[in-house]
Amino acid sequence: KQSVWTPENIVQSPYKPVDIPNRILTEHIWENLERWPDKTAMVCGLTNRSITYHQLYRLSKTFGAQLRTKFQITDGDIVCVMMNNVPEYAPVIFGIIEAGALVTTVNPTYTPYEVHRQLVLSNPKALVGIPETVPVLKEALKLAKKNIPIICCDTKSNLPVGTVSFQELIEDNHVNLEVLKEVNMNSEDVVLLPYSSGTTGLPKGVELTNRNIVANCIQQDDEETRHFDDTTIENQDSVLAVLPFYHIYGLCIVMIHKLSVGCKVVTVPKFHPNTFIATLEKFNISLLCAAPPLVLFLGSHDGVKSKHLEPVKRLTSGAAPLPKPDIEKLIKKAQNIQMLQVYGLTETSPLVTTLTAGSQNYTSAGKPISNTELKVINSEGKSLGPNKVGELLIRGPQVMRGYKDNPEATKNCITEDGWFKSGDLASLDNDGSLTIADRLKELIKVKGYQVAPAELESVIKEHPAVLDAGVIGVPDQSTGERPKAFVVLKEGYRSEKNDIANFVAERVTEYKRLKEIVFMDSLPKNPSGKLLRRVLREKYC
Ligand code: AMP
Repeated sequence: KQSVWTPENIVQSPYKPVDIPNRILTEHIWENLERWPDKTAMVCGLTNRSITYHQLYRLSKTFGAQLRTKFQITDGDIVCVMMNNVPEYAPVIFGIIEAGALVTTVNPTYTPYEVHRQLVLSNPKALVGIPETVPVLKEALKLAKKNIPIICCDTKSNLPVGTVSFQELIEDNHVNLEVLKEVNMNSEDVVLLPYSSGTTGLPKGVELTNRNIVANCIQQDDEETRHFDDTTIENQDSVLAVLPFYHIYGLCIVMIHKLSVGCKVVTVPKFHPNTFIATLEKFNISLLCAAPPLVLFLGSHDGVKSKHLEPVKRLTSGAAPLPKPDIEKLIKKAQNIQMLQVYGLTETSPLVTTLTAGSQNYTSAGKPISNTELKVINSEGKSLGPNKVGELLIRGPQVMRGYKDNPEATKNCITEDGWFKSGDLASLDNDGSLTIADRLKELIKVKGYQVAPAELESVIKEHPAVLDAGVIGVPDQSTGERPKAFVVLKEGYRSEKNDIANFVAERVTEYKRLKEIVFMDSLPKNPSGKLLRRVLREKYC
């Protein structure tokens, strides 16, 4: 099916427009509950601990009521979640929304230093963690000089001191669900607040409204573009949730959307080749959502056999460029697999384009989903015709409201007529299929995860011997890219590369660590003092 090119060089979705109801996200999830109340909603791939749809509804309502009564959470408050992929993630998220609050998710591998930054920016009223993340949350609270309750998801016997048991809260039979009637949230209110650095600078809170998320769910349901089959008495697609729920792809495409259509979400808390393969086998996974490193793993790891991939009807890959040789390796192993590349961003809730079943053009990211328009512009802002590379702009109901408390960054990326500037370099062919060519923005992607150069630069500059620092991404075979730093030392100071690398490693999670450090006398800057990363890339890489 061809997209429509308008005379203004706008590409419109070839799929029929969908109506977006005015409802909040949890109402959308509960909408079809009666069709699959006893089917499994969430199950842990390691322990088989599971929650049915009916239980998910009840637990979410109970947790929401407890948040309002025991923790005084009220409309518009923020609750921060720092957990691995576990079945409880869903009732935690939906419970927070039922309480009228917003969810901000934190990477469970973050250091206290990284978490404290998000706590300062988002100012949550409560935290939800698991035993592994509680010590980090406590440290982060100290750094942020905050004192708020920590709710911990685990068996009561394993409860870390100073935390409240999630299990105890949801098992309380005396909870008064009536308090949920006081909640006043509407479809235009912000419901999710993930963090993204966007085109430049430090990570910012991305304000996604109920309408954004509900729209993106419904946009994924179109008969021609969807990745799942109907849930019926005989069929329930199972999706493997190995992409972390803290990131928009794991949260909205793998968990929230799949729960809105009755799938079984099989959670994997941490990626280990053997447990991953065992889970694939045990749960007859029909839908695999991946980022490029997982596609590489599936195609090249000897332990992954054709038989493991036989039940997989569809495999989607997004979040970073997918190298063609990696696709070819996988297809050789699993000839029947439907490889579907998808493209999106945190700021677009996230899905923008997808390939459709039957397409062999794997390196394309596909066509815009329903209600979505695309255009490619040159540096003067002129819309370009087919096959010309420029910056990709996106318009649709999934585009975020803006960056929290940052009107300037919002104004810089959303035009007055609603176009969102992706910061990606791309082209659209005659059929309106998207190919991502490169990144205009400074963002580095390691295994599909965001690394903001500005964040690493500010960490490096905290080192006592460092005067100035510039960070760019350099290619890496297994992770896509990794950060490389250019460092200017203060006069009279000496420091070893290792010393700076260790300083950074102590403060940031593993995938943000520096691959390389180069000492320089000065950094290339423009007359107003802005670092010229492009010059670093062209001259020194
Ligand atoms: P995030 O907000 O972390 O999801 O990152 C969004 C960015 O990931 C996009 O702006 C792209 O640079 C990159 N990205 C997402 N999907 C793809 C894809 N299919 N191919 C290439 N890059 C992608």
